[in-house]
Amino acid sequence: MAEYRTRYAPSPTGAMHLGHARTALVTWLRARREAGRIVMRIEDLDPPRVREGSEESILRDHAWLGLDWDEGPFHQSTRTARYEAALARLEAAGRVFPCTCTRKEVQAATASAPHGDDGPRYPGTCRERPSHPERDPAIRFRMDDGPGFVDALAGPYEAGRVGGDFIVRRSDGLFAYQLAVVVDDHEMGVTEVIRGDDLLPSTPRQIALYEALGWTPPSFLHVPLVLGEDGERLAKRHGSVAVADYREAGWSPERLLGTLAHSLGLLPAPTPTTLPALLERFSLDPLSPAPVTLPAP
Ligand code: GLU
Repeated sequence: MAEYRTRYAPSPTGAMHLGHARTALVTWLRARREAGRIVMRIEDLDPPRVREGSEESILRDHAWLGLDWDEGPFHQSTRTARYEAALARLEAAGRVFPCTCTRKEVQAATASAPHGDDGPRYPGTCRERPSHPERDPAIRFRMDDGPGFVDALAGPYEAGRVGGDFIVRRSDGLFAYQLAVVVDDHEMGVTEVIRGDDLLPSTPRQIALYEALGWTPPSFLHVPLVLGEDGERLAKRHGSVAVADYREAGWSPERLLGTLAHSLGLLPAPTPTTLPALLERFSLDPLSPAPVTLPAP
């Protein structure tokens, strides 16, 4: 059997928050349980969104929790040539086309159109030729209905829940997440992608790219999101949600691990625990696909 390989893929756009820590804990437990390897990949593809000091703090927070890795950190910002090569293959196969629509134009054209799980479908305006040849084009991948797949936790995700041509390279020349993540996961030998379930609707797009590039997709496990008390996806406006906030409030890594493990159904109560103790009892069975809320520090 192939070696189990997975990855942490943080974007250095802010602090590591509780939702990231919960997903990283599942990643660590799953990989260690399978005697597999973890790659650390910093997703710094979009320079304007990168925050000074974020990468260092994210790496420190992983280390504080004991969530180690075996390879990396690798940086997407140094891997542009690989994305170029993949794009050239998609171009040669006729799977992409230049698109000069602005976001506003796409929105206006699709305002009353049916929406998929991640928004409206691109209406195909530039499929034959760019609508505004004088503009710098983005590059879109041709996709009608996105393929279905079976998530290791959420179960079947039907074909066609997302669809439409999507951007693989932006008009400013930056590569889009969808292409970079597929090239990286493939080249880094990832056999299972573990990430937050806000990215579920990206998965059919990525599987379509694997197929177009002639690569076998990995399996996918999407961990439910952590919500703020108001039921919205956890974010800065919910106050202290960063791992560092808990540390500064005097929490030990064991206490935070216990709280996270309890939220994953791995402990009957949020009592302090260690990674080796969790590893012994780890199973995906008690994990519910429902989102959770967690206590403030
Ligand atoms: N970089 C993304 C994030 O931090 C994760 C992407 C992925 O796991 O595929 O949300």
